Amino acid sequence: MSITIKKDVHIAAMRLAGRITGEVLNLMAKEIRPGISTAELDNIAEEYIRSKGAVPSFKGLYGYPASICASVNNEIIHGIPDGRRLKEGDIISIDTGAYINGFHGDAARTFAVGEISPERQRLIDVTRESFFRGIEYAKEGNHLSEISAAIQDYAESSGFSVVRDYVGHGIGREMHEDPEVPNYRRGRLGPRLIKGMTIAVEPMLTAGSFRVRTLKNDWTVVTRDGSDSAHYENTVLITDGEPELFTLV
Ligand code: MG
Repeated sequence: MSITIKKDVHIAAMRLAGRITGEVLNLMAKEIRPGISTAELDNIAEEYIRSKGAVPSFKGLYGYPASICASVNNEIIHGIPDGRRLKEGDIISIDTGAYINGFHGDAARTFAVGEISPERQRLIDVTRESFFRGIEYAKEGNHLSEISAAIQDYAESSGFSVVRDYVGHGIGREMHEDPEVPNYRRGRLGPRLIKGMTIAVEPMLTAGSFRVRTLKNDWTVVTRDGSDSAHYENTVLITDGEPELFTLV
């Protein structure tokens, strides 16, 4: 599959899908507290998405069973919502997407559950900031690798590692389109960015090594060394000026 360039009518649809996706995360921020279960959060998210006339992008994608991924502490991505309850001091990464009018939105944030340690707060803050360092290069004419390099440099100079095995992606009619958007250097320039490209930029950082493993449920990806992980993602439109963040609302 090749990179798709969106026309104005597609961009309008993606703006709506992105807004709903971002609103879900804002809702999660209000609901997350000690004692709530990840299944309860999933229900709230799905209900909200459907109330807007959209469909949860993740549900059924490659057989995934839920509307959010809920990844706690050392879980990086693809944590499956279940009955376990969040505890004071946990951090939880919520990744979600909404599909409407033929297009997807995709975004993630890591949230604090009650009071968290300064170390965990710093991991969340650096992960978020690494996204913004990256998208300083998200402009027509630049190469994709400039985004990747800026994320990696900021994350590593802050003392964290960048996950290698999972990367960002093009997004549009499909949740996962070309190109891959790595958060580290691959030794290639990557494609040149063109106005109308839409990409999900999503740094995943860890407090220890970047090595990962997948749990027996075949979904949940955790750090091999048990260290904490955080995630920050938005759906980004490349323009000839500043990028537009569809999911940051
Ligand atoms: Mg994504």
